[in-house]
Amino acid sequence: MKQHLLHGIGVTEGVAIGTAVCVSNHIGDILQIPLAEDEVEKEIRRFGQAVEQTRSDIQGLRNRVETEISEEIARIFDAQCLFLNDPSFLSSVEDHIRDERVNAEWALKETMTEIQQRFDLIDSQHLRERSEDLRYACRYVVRHLRGLDLHHLSEVANDVVIVADDLSPSDAVRLGRENAAGFVIEHGSRTSHTTIIARSLNIPAVLGVHGAQALLTDQSEIRVVVDGSRGVVVVAPSEETLDGYREQKVALRQREKELQVESQLPVLSRDGVAVQVMANIDLPEEIEEAQRFDAAGIGLYRSEFLYIEKSPELPSEEEHLALYRQIVERMAPNPAIIRTYDLGGRKIAREVMETQGENPALGLRGIRLTMARQNIFKSQVRALLRATVFGDLWIMLPLVTILEEVHAFRAFAEEMMAELEAEGHAFRRDFRLGIMIEVPAAAMISDLLAKEVDFFSIGTNDLIQYALAVDRNNEHVANLYRPLHPGLLRLLRQVVASARAEGIEVSLCGEMAADPALTPILLGCGLRRLSVNPRQVPVIKHRIRSLTVGRLAEVVDVCCQLGTQAEIDAYLRQALEEEQETAVGPEGPSPG
Ligand code: PEP
Ligand code: MG
Repeated sequence: MKQHLLHGIGVTEGVAIGTAVCVSNHIGDILQIPLAEDEVEKEIRRFGQAVEQTRSDIQGLRNRVETEISEEIARIFDAQCLFLNDPSFLSSVEDHIRDERVNAEWALKETMTEIQQRFDLIDSQHLRERSEDLRYACRYVVRHLRGLDLHHLSEVANDVVIVADDLSPSDAVRLGRENAAGFVIEHGSRTSHTTIIARSLNIPAVLGVHGAQALLTDQSEIRVVVDGSRGVVVVAPSEETLDGYREQKVALRQREKELQVESQLPVLSRDGVAVQVMANIDLPEEIEEAQRFDAAGIGLYRSEFLYIEKSPELPSEEEHLALYRQIVERMAPNPAIIRTYDLGGRKIAREVMETQGENPALGLRGIRLTMARQNIFKSQVRALLRATVFGDLWIMLPLVTILEEVHAFRAFAEEMMAELEAEGHAFRRDFRLGIMIEVPAAAMISDLLAKEVDFFSIGTNDLIQYALAVDRNNEHVANLYRPLHPGLLRLLRQVVASARAEGIEVSLCGEMAADPALTPILLGCGLRRLSVNPRQVPVIKHRIRSLTVGRLAEVVDVCCQLGTQAEIDAYLRQALEEEQETAVGPEGPSPG
């Protein structure tokens, strides 16, 4: 076979080189086998035993994951056990066996289809993922019913790349622990549990690679490269390509080591300006990476993940509290900024299903939704307040557009504090309250908002989409999604100036902050606090150390006056080259 490329979505950075091993999760056709009346009870017992074996396998995996990876990841397996422990699920299968006098596999398939149909009626990514848990659990049971072996790699050499149509979280853990070097998966999404596991095991993975199995199944000993950073799989790489990737792997490892060592140093620009680089996290297990790269705190914790994880149940106050306490304590003495639920819009919340409206991004979203549904908000706010005693917790509200939203939240928090006081719970009344600036009108009244809150965090992912009228997920207008649009730069400067005038903190936590090419612009806008995904923390710190901040405000001044993207690009190229040339020595001048 000649070298060729397959494209997909890269979900874990890094490169894996190995021999492709195809793993199929299709359990093949399930046949309907009629039973004699006296076989029915035996069949129900056979089903019960297979469920018991599955439960014990999954529990075993869960325990292993808990000790080897983390409690959060281990909880993924609880979702599968949920079905296996659910009496109505089990009795439905038994009823099918009994009423239709059919084999357990068929009865299980029938029950699974019925539940699946109910899931399909609801347009929710989260529920689709719950239905994946159901499918994985059922497949597991069928494997036991058929006495089939699980996929094992023990007898295969180390450098194996798993090529799967669909990989369950349990298979991902087991195969990952058995030294699979990389994953190529035909299905799956960025937020699926399998993705989360691949990331936390640091296994390069590319998803959405349609046709990978068909191409590789009958090939023996075929080499593949999984390039998780670019979302590419190279099949049958030439020696030259392999050499390139081998070098890249060595360089990546080396670079990571250097960055990690370097990230412990103070973050000062060449001209001695201190900048804080914080971490954005969606999952608590990312805290470890934030700590490893010495992030100056958590600049954004997107709390909606907890909601999405627990759905259809609401997280309890104690669950919120345990999580916030963990984040705050582990980051102490640095601050942890916890954002209240930003649900609605593209972030699913079943509470708004019927009320999404024609244009969800302009609808009931963020603070608008939580203030309108205080029943889901109450336990979160109470837990946030209670968690203030465990470290430096800052509370942040998403999508604030009008002053009244801040007033309404303060009044709501007062009510919650009165309740907590009456119940004898400890909390800090002087917690810091801040808002995301991600709506253009909020940026324009940032002078007024700055009088009402303790900090701003600029969410450019949304600010760009609202200011430029460009849906951040619409490929047809992707060329108009321009972080360097002078209109946006003017807004950024305005927000920073408002914060400075009132002496409040301001940071930027949109994806823009994670792009080292844009760091000079952000510093030129006056920002001194950036928050980026944990893996980018050392990269951005490194970039800051290479810059002379003194001149950058002028550079942004000029950009704000330039009309076209081409002019901005050309000017920046020249200005930043000059900036690097005039920088004095690797350490720069002494701050004094
Ligand atoms: C943003 O809008 O820039 C942001 C950080 O929030 P999210 O990406 O969660 O919408
Ligand atoms: Mg946002």
